[in-house]
Amino acid sequence: MLIADARLVKNAEEKLVNIEEVSKQLYDHNFRGFLYCPTPGCPAKLVYINSDRAHFRTWKYHAHHEGCVYHFERRWVGRDYQIADVTVGFEFQRRQEALSKAYRAMRFPEELPNLKTVTRTTVTLQKPMLSRRKRITGIQTTLFDDETWQGLKRKRPPLRRKYVSKINENDIDQHKLVMGYVQKVELIEDVAKITLLESDKEIDIVFELSFIAESKNNSYLNKFGVIQHFADQNPEPAFAGIGEVRFNRTTNRFEHQIFFGTDFRIEDMDLLALSAKMALSELE
Ligand SMILES: [Zn+2]
Repeated sequence: MLIADARLVKNAEEKLVNIEEVSKQLYDHNFRGFLYCPTPGCPAKLVYINSDRAHFRTWKYHAHHEGCVYHFERRWVGRDYQIADVTVGFEFQRRQEALSKAYRAMRFPEELPNLKTVTRTTVTLQKPMLSRRKRITGIQTTLFDDETWQGLKRKRPPLRRKYVSKINENDIDQHKLVMGYVQKVELIEDVAKITLLESDKEIDIVFELSFIAESKNNSYLNKFGVIQHFADQNPEPAFAGIGEVRFNRTTNRFEHQIFFGTDFRIEDMDLLALSAKMALSELE
């Protein structure tokens, strides 16, 4: 549930402000830390989320008063999207395999001779190649024997992958694996908007309320800064993510919404792995 109003408590004054009246600048300079739940007397602090659908959200460490209508807010937002749990079992394994394959297709296209339509962008050619990393292929492979695995795989719709430049209207509302190179990381509270570029086309990777509200993503929140950091040191890292494509009428751009932290990789690294790697390199 999106919260549209907030109670501004500042300088011994109290008034309601609507989301329409708030801009990122106004929030950063005047409102940050002074916004509360609109229910009179409720102690929960709110933060402003500057996404394409700007809204207020309960501050992570604050709870609403028991009698407040927003008391169960976190559970409600979780129900905006009914999506199967993709962080365990077969679906998890299938997705990880698809992400890893996408990475190899981006960095080592010569290994996949059957992908004739895939063209490498000039972007990759200009930049120094990142060192060839050891491939991660051993994820839970013992869970299924090969026959079971192939059988399960046939029953599911394929995870179609597409380069950013190949995304078109037909992909809207479709589940896709999108591949591109990180251009820009704009941190938005606990998450970020990541702009990918490939063959002169861009797409915005977005993480929204449903991502933040999903408890399985808790360990991914507040880690998005490392992508920015990593991209500073390794320009245009390869990004592969599974989510839903849509068209944003405000920005006139394609967006790709990701629902689970395990559904995207940067240079074939899960955000948690990348975060650990960056922490280690900082110690060196
Ligand atoms: Zn409240």
